[in-house]
Amino acid sequence: MRNLKKIKRVFILGKPFKVIFCKERTGDLYDLERKHYYVGRILMEEQRMSIADHLALEETFETIFHEAFHAADDLVGSDSEELYVKRMSACLTAILLDNFKITPKQEIL
Ligand SMILES: [Zn+2]
Repeated sequence: MRNLKKIKRVFILGKPFKVIFCKERTGDLYDLERKHYYVGRILMEEQRMSIADHLALEETFETIFHEAFHAADDLVGSDSEELYVKRMSACLTAILLDNFKITPKQEIL
């Protein structure tokens, strides 16, 4: 968990997504269409996940998990509402952090 912000890539249902840590309100974190800033965003076509770099460790983990959940949801052909994704990712993150020692599987560059 300590090196979470060094993660370069995550696999979501076997599909690789590049992970980019962005300064607040920069890069993909700004949604032009909705004119809104996010702390995390997943772009499916680009296979890119952007995470704000100012978040605390557990928030970073939850945000990565939240965005991964959106991607997994999309990949299985579902289109769940934000509130559902938020609830599920928050619950699953809490369960994981309370019960398991999380170690990134891929090499840390
Ligand atoms: Zn979301």
